[in-house]
Amino acid sequence: MTEQRQTRIVATLGPATDPPGVLEGLLRAGMNVARINFSHGKRADHERRIGALRAAAESVGCDVAVLADLSGPKVRVRGFRNGPVTLQAGAHFTIDGALGEHDGDEQAVGTDYPQLAQDVRAGDRLLLNDGLIQLRVLSVHDTAVQCEVEAGGELSNHKGINKLGGGLSASALTAKDRDDIATAAALEVDYLAVSFVRRALDIELTRELLRGAGGHARIVAKIERSEAVTALDSIVEAADAVMVARGDLGVEIGDAELPGVQKRIIALARELNRPCITATQMMESMIENPVPTRAEVLDVANAVIDGTDAVMLSAETSVGTYPVRVVETVARICLGAERYPVTERSAAQFASHFERTDEAIAMASMYLARHGHTSAVLALTDSGHTALLLSRLLHGVPVFALTEHARTRRRMALLRGVTAINFDRDRPYERVAQDALELLKTRGLIERGMRVLITKGDQPGSGRTNTLLLMDVP
Ligand code: PGA
Ligand code: MN
Repeated sequence: MTEQRQTRIVATLGPATDPPGVLEGLLRAGMNVARINFSHGKRADHERRIGALRAAAESVGCDVAVLADLSGPKVRVRGFRNGPVTLQAGAHFTIDGALGEHDGDEQAVGTDYPQLAQDVRAGDRLLLNDGLIQLRVLSVHDTAVQCEVEAGGELSNHKGINKLGGGLSASALTAKDRDDIATAAALEVDYLAVSFVRRALDIELTRELLRGAGGHARIVAKIERSEAVTALDSIVEAADAVMVARGDLGVEIGDAELPGVQKRIIALARELNRPCITATQMMESMIENPVPTRAEVLDVANAVIDGTDAVMLSAETSVGTYPVRVVETVARICLGAERYPVTERSAAQFASHFERTDEAIAMASMYLARHGHTSAVLALTDSGHTALLLSRLLHGVPVFALTEHARTRRRMALLRGVTAINFDRDRPYERVAQDALELLKTRGLIERGMRVLITKGDQPGSGRTNTLLLMDVP
C-alpha cells in the first residue's frame, strides 16, 4: 500500500500548461483542482483549456475539479506613453483618473478607478505592483491624487493599486465578472472564486447570478481585502469554500499581520465545515528555478500543518518553466508535512450538539478513528456532504468517498484526506459494503486485516447517512 497524500493541490492553467502532455503530467504529479484565471485570456482560451483538461483526466483516469477565478474589481493604473517608468524615492507622483490609457509618464499616470480620489485622504498609503512601490498621499485635487514616493521601483502598464488598511469602495462584481459568471456556468466549472469580496452579500449575489445562468458551481470567497477580514465569519458562512489570497491580502493588511490572519482563516473554515485553499507565492522562485527555496518548503509545510485543505500554484504552473516539476515538489513536501500531527482543535466540536443525523455519524466516526479502532473510513455518499464533515474531523485518517455521481467526485477533489472513487451502489443492499471493500482492496487502498468504518444511508439521497458499520477487511 502506498502512502496517500491528503493535502490537495490547486494548479493554475496557462500558456505553460498548453503544450502536449503537460496536463497529463500535472495530473500524474498530483494536481487535484485546475484553476482558470479569468484575469487572463478570453472565453475561447478557457473553453479550450477546460476541454483539454477533461480529455487528459479521462486518459489518466482521475477526477479533477475546475475552479474558475473571477477577476473582480482590481484597481489598476492605466498605461505609459514610453513603456515602464522608474519611480525614485522622494519624488512626487500623481495618479489621476482624468488621464487616458497612454498618458502615463514619470510624473503621473491614469487609473481605471475614477473614484480613487474620493476614497483616499492625505496621509494614506497606496501600494502599487503588489506592494513593491509605496506612495504616501500628499493631497487630493478633483480627480488627481498627489503622492510622494516612499519606496520606489519600476512601474509598468496596468499594475494593481491597493490601499493599506483597505477602503477602496469598488463593488465586488464588475460587468466583466457578470459575463464571466455566465461563461463559468456554460463551461460547467465545479468551483467559482469571487475576488475582492467585501461582505457576505457579494457571495450571495454571485451565487444568485450563477444559478440564474444554470451553473452548479460551489462559491469560493477569496479573502484579500481588509474589510473581508473584519467580516470573516459571515463571509465564510455565506461561501462554500474560502481562499487565503495572500497576494492582495498581504498588501492590504501589511505583511506582519499575514501569518496570524492565515491561521485564523484556516481554523475558522474548518470550524464552519468549509474547505480552505492557501494561495500565492508558495513556490514563487520555481517560476524560474528547478528547486524551491527552504523558505518556500517551510511555507507549504506550515500551511499543511495549519490544516489547509489545499495549496495553490499560480504563475508557478501557468507561465513557469517547470509546471510539472513544481507540482511534484509540492506533492512531496505535503506528504512529508502530513507526518507531523495537525494541531488538535476538535475538542469544541466534541462538546457541541448535533441536529443532523449525518453530523452525528461523522462525529461517531471520529471518535472511533481517534481511539484507534479504524485505519480508514469508506463513505457512501451522493452529495459529498458526509465526506466533507469527515474531512473536517478526521485528521490523518483517510476517507474514501464512493459515489456514482461524477459531479460529486470532482467537487470532493478539493477536500483534504478525501479520495473519490467511482462506485455505483445500485445493487442488493447486503452486497454494498462487501463490494465496496473488495473494490478498494483491488485498488491497493486498503488491505486484509485492516479495520475500517463504512458510513452509508439506508436510502440513497443527499444528507441521508444514518448507518455506521465497523468491518474487518476480509
Ligand atoms: P489573484 O488572487 O492571483 O487573482 O490576485 C490571489 C491573491 O491575491 O493572492
Ligand atoms: Mn488577488
